[in-house]
Amino acid sequence: MGATHDDSIRITGAREHNLKNVDLEIPKGRITVFTGVSGSGKSSVVFDTVAVESQRQLNETFTWYVRNQLPKHERPKADTIERLSPAIVVDQRPLGGGARSTVGTLTDIYAILRVLYSRCGTPSAGEATAYSFNDPAGMCPECAGLGCTTRIDLDRFLDTGRSLNGGAIRFPPLAVGTAGWQIYATSGLFDPDKPLDRYTPREWDLLLYGKGFTVKRGERAYNNTYEGLVENFDRRYVKRDVSALSEKARAMVRGFVREGTCPVCGGARLTAAALKSLVAGRSIAEMAALEVTELSDVLRGIDPAEEPVGAAVAARAVTALDRLTGIGLGYLSLDRPAATLSGGEGQRLKMVRHLGSSLTGMTYVFDEPSTGLHPSDVRRLNDLLVRLRDKGNTVLVVEHDRDVIAVADHVVDMGPGAGAQGGEVVFAGTVRGLAAADTPTGRGLRRVTGVKADVRTPVDWLTVRDVTLHNLKGVDFRVPTGVLTVVTGVAGSGKSTLVSEAFVGAHPEAVVVDQSAIGVSARSTPATYLGAMDAVRALFARENGVPAGLFSFNAAGACEECRGRGVIHTDLAYMDPVTSTCEACRGRRYKDEVLGLTLSGRSVAEVLEMTAEEAVAFFGAGGPAAAGSGGDEAAGIERKLAALVEVGLGYLTLGQSVSSLSGGERQRLKLATRLHRTGSVYVLDEPTTGLHMADVAGLLELLDRLVDDGNTVLVIEHDLDVVKRADWVVDLGPGGGRRGGEIVYAGTPRGLLAARGSVTADCLRGSLG
Ligand code: ADP
Ligand code: ADP
Ligand code: ZN
Ligand code: ZN
Repeated sequence: MGATHDDSIRITGAREHNLKNVDLEIPKGRITVFTGVSGSGKSSVVFDTVAVESQRQLNETFTWYVRNQLPKHERPKADTIERLSPAIVVDQRPLGGGARSTVGTLTDIYAILRVLYSRCGTPSAGEATAYSFNDPAGMCPECAGLGCTTRIDLDRFLDTGRSLNGGAIRFPPLAVGTAGWQIYATSGLFDPDKPLDRYTPREWDLLLYGKGFTVKRGERAYNNTYEGLVENFDRRYVKRDVSALSEKARAMVRGFVREGTCPVCGGARLTAAALKSLVAGRSIAEMAALEVTELSDVLRGIDPAEEPVGAAVAARAVTALDRLTGIGLGYLSLDRPAATLSGGEGQRLKMVRHLGSSLTGMTYVFDEPSTGLHPSDVRRLNDLLVRLRDKGNTVLVVEHDRDVIAVADHVVDMGPGAGAQGGEVVFAGTVRGLAAADTPTGRGLRRVTGVKADVRTPVDWLTVRDVTLHNLKGVDFRVPTGVLTVVTGVAGSGKSTLVSEAFVGAHPEAVVVDQSAIGVSARSTPATYLGAMDAVRALFARENGVPAGLFSFNAAGACEECRGRGVIHTDLAYMDPVTSTCEACRGRRYKDEVLGLTLSGRSVAEVLEMTAEEAVAFFGAGGPAAAGSGGDEAAGIERKLAALVEVGLGYLTLGQSVSSLSGGERQRLKLATRLHRTGSVYVLDEPTTGLHMADVAGLLELLDRLVDDGNTVLVIEHDLDVVKRADWVVDLGPGGGRRGGEIVYAGTPRGLLAARGSVTADCLRGSLG
């Protein structure tokens, strides 16, 4: 180890996950980038050691009472961790807040606008809460500030080709013969044998919205009880506390409703009074619907001579808005629901919040902040990291992007390999030193690849025409089949909208491999997800002459303490849940008697601790298969796990919880289950997320093999190494949001090199050194 500085975070003997007694110094007040192949141990150092210990030490400074309310962190496995400063983790986990949270509320810019309207809006609606859709004073009474309402879906509810007697009402509680149905069919108001599509407008209105008639039901007459179908449905299922309904009833009702824009506020979420109040000719909802850059221009236009107070408040909003633009999010609008943002956009929003704060002496920790960023935007990202540092903070970044690595004051390269082959610091020093180092990252930095010249010839074309969704301006999109197509463009240019919504919507046969959460139980592991676990259990059962169920971690053989999860979750009302290793089984998930049963000398827990790569060797030649029985099962397991290795996940253990995987890892895990098809159209959104330069080469080989096997591959990607290997490139732009939404180039990557007016082309030329 080099000289010891007082101004360094010092770690000795770190052993989380695969770390091999790592000793490390991280300079304070500097930007340190952690590099290395996936699974080498970057996160284990940065998140699981530094950030966790910092949080734990901070919690210890609170009183016993407060401490008891905070999540408990187990001390990371390390000998010493010294001179930490409080850490703030800026990751890609979804932003909370639910349906009420928008870009405007998350950044607090909407709160500034509310102050502006309460002071300067004409007519004023009142104080600042009168403009808040999260406050009863300001929220639209119809939709409670959500902007959308649940409404009956009449297309599903009624079959207008039929009569009431003929079953026109499809909703089961009002089926022919029921008491509910009688209200309509035997009321005397309608001809029960007349198909609904021949009703007069008046009859139609009566059927849906009529109210307060005396009606007959069978032989009896009822006073003023008639209620049209829509009124009745709303009262019973919509305008009430739906949590009182059974889950079954709710599921049934869900089939007959549709989410729609609130008819009262038109989606603006606010009361009529708030929407009438104008500043610079616009309502607050109209302001929130503008793109950030446009809003900034409008607010700048408020004249301090005429509106001294308003101009001062607006100036505060402008400062915050320009920060958003500065990080490449100028195409968003304040009314954009948080739930519709991508992980990368969310991370950059969180960054903006921290930039606005005046904290100093903190440690900021970032997880691959370049995700979703076009190479041309990475420069702005670097500016932000530098500004955080220059405010007196320590900045730690896990990153693969060579342009982000370039901004580092200090680099820590983990490796050399993944899992058991990693866990060491293979290089620590300057970027220049790393570029000369004999490590996978050093070699990756030195390698400059050219643009592919001999591209494949398309077999045919798949098309979507005149797409106008979100910002797309009547785009005709043609995707060649039998080749590798890459869609590029700056953030917000419309790539996801065009590919994941329009194209996939028009071609439902496409195999979409995305980064979304895998809807599986807390016990799911790569082995169960791939369907390899049944065969593993069968092999253990046959070998030991016991039932296979014993080896299932949700049945008889499971540890009773943790029910086979290996960990214990403690839920806290308002905090992140705390997870600790189960003491009864020490994380091994099984009862002791099950752990005594072996296959080729290994217990089931030991098999689950193997990486996919190790397990391929274990179940392959020389493994249980060679022992005689169970050859088919072993071969099946080997084949499924080999797919994991093929997609670059050979370092995952069979028993690792699927919920602990990153977005990029989840995407590759899904890909592993969908390999070996032919004639398919694969659609992937940024598959290089989380991949080291060395792993990108492996991913490219895999994509090439998919194409050679007779598939069509369509990817959204920023990584220029992927763009260079494409057969066909479609570049969207020229900018983001309203300034994007057009195809600025479609053709071969070679042709892109010569293209003008495309920022992707500029970056591609720049990358050739
Ligand atoms: P990187 O950040 O470089 O991709 P990680 O630090 O996430 O690498 O992982 C290093 C090793 O630790 C890998 O072998 C990985 O499978 C393992 N690992 C990571 N998280 C866990 C976990 N929660 N439980 C068990 N093993 C883990
Ligand atoms: P890219 O994938 O190139 O980053 P997107 O397709 O995500 O771009 O976005 C294109 C435009 O559509 C942007 O202006 C973005 O704000 C807008 N947009 C994307 N998704 C939504 C959504 N769910 N609701 C409203 N606007 C959206
Ligand atoms: Zn409303
Ligand atoms: Zn247990």
